Amino acid sequence: MKTINIFGVTGSVGLSSVKVLKQHQDKFSVNAITGGNNVELLAKLAVELNAKYAVIANETKFETLKSLLSGTDIKIDCGKGGLLRAAEQEVDICLAAIVGYAGLKPTMRSLKYAKRVALANKECLVAAGELFIAEAKKHGCEILPVDSEHSAMFQCLQGSQNKQMEKILLTASGGPFRRYTMDEMRHITLKQALKHPNWNMGAKITIDSATMMNKGNELIEAFYLFPVSLEQIEVVVHKQSIIHSMIQYCDGSIIAQLGAPEMGTAIAYAIGWPNRLELDFKRLDLFEIAELSFEKPDEKRFKCLSLSKYAVKQGGTCATVLNAANEVAVDAFLKNKISFLNIADICEETINKAQSKNIIVNASELNDICEVDTMARQIAMTLF
Ligand code: NDP
Ligand code: MG
Repeated sequence: MKTINIFGVTGSVGLSSVKVLKQHQDKFSVNAITGGNNVELLAKLAVELNAKYAVIANETKFETLKSLLSGTDIKIDCGKGGLLRAAEQEVDICLAAIVGYAGLKPTMRSLKYAKRVALANKECLVAAGELFIAEAKKHGCEILPVDSEHSAMFQCLQGSQNKQMEKILLTASGGPFRRYTMDEMRHITLKQALKHPNWNMGAKITIDSATMMNKGNELIEAFYLFPVSLEQIEVVVHKQSIIHSMIQYCDGSIIAQLGAPEMGTAIAYAIGWPNRLELDFKRLDLFEIAELSFEKPDEKRFKCLSLSKYAVKQGGTCATVLNAANEVAVDAFLKNKISFLNIADICEETINKAQSKNIIVNASELNDICEVDTMARQIAMTLF
């Protein structure tokens, strides 16, 4: 039996992981689960999964959690401190599926106490890539990717030597606006942006997919997870989302991983590796798919992608700034305060302003990242 913590259990990835775990109850024992606001779902899942601890991040929901779980022996906790205390429990695996920067501190803390972090919360690597990887190395914690593209890369690298890898081909669906003209993009509504053509995900990542910031984030994620330079990562728009990514080797051979657009397989691989867990999800029907297509991304219309590359080239906390600006902008877009194209503009302008204020630095500890994140958010908020 492996012990597992699930951070962000009430979200899209969290709930997909619950489906996987329910098919393998003989192999995993659930320790702590955490939610942000959805206290009813958290309590329900705690009982269903026979979890030992349930933590609600929003402290105002603590009394409700207490009454929902009274009469059970499930221990409860709340707030940012509660998330950190959950991270400090020694487990075999911590599935990190909180969305955004909010997940950085608890996930970083888990690197010390968990043997493996199954990482969905990609913003950890965007905001604090270097420190995050160094911390994992320091404690001998394995990071297994849950993001489907990075799971694909990891799967395609099995049985091979990293140094024989020539290039990563990072696939992208292109999102709902792949074929929109710049003029059409000026009139994109929130409702349109929240409708991803292939994937069913949380709100933030759905908007990130529409702006292609998600692909930019994944580029940064790949840069930190695998031994490659920025030039060795190529984004390939593949609208069907069937090939989850590919590795090109030094002999010209390209290995791809294919699957249906659902997260179960990647989650199962991250928690089961080096084994594959049996899953009863619907199998891919290649005859139904019939065709796979590929095209180059348009970085003029999807400026977020080029901003991510720029942030990697700049180094230091440039990607921390980008991540903070994007989180502020996406939140504003979700509240109908700004337009779709404003998101990329705010990201670009925040980086410019951060540079002129010299707040892009080399972070030597998590506190540096936190300070830069706070300052970048303040800048971004003045831009709308
Ligand atoms: P969701 O928005 O569906 O879920 C986010 C989870 O985080 C929920 O459990 C939510 O709690 C919790 N949460 C939100 N804010 C806080 C906070 N301040 N403190 C603590 N917990 C919080 O997101 P997704 O599941 O879509 O995404 C999770 C992560 O996985 C993201 O980083 C995303 O980029 C990544 N990812 C997602 C994929 C997908 O298919 N969805 C694919 C690949 C990567 P509650 O709902 O109770 O408020
Ligand atoms: Mg992905």
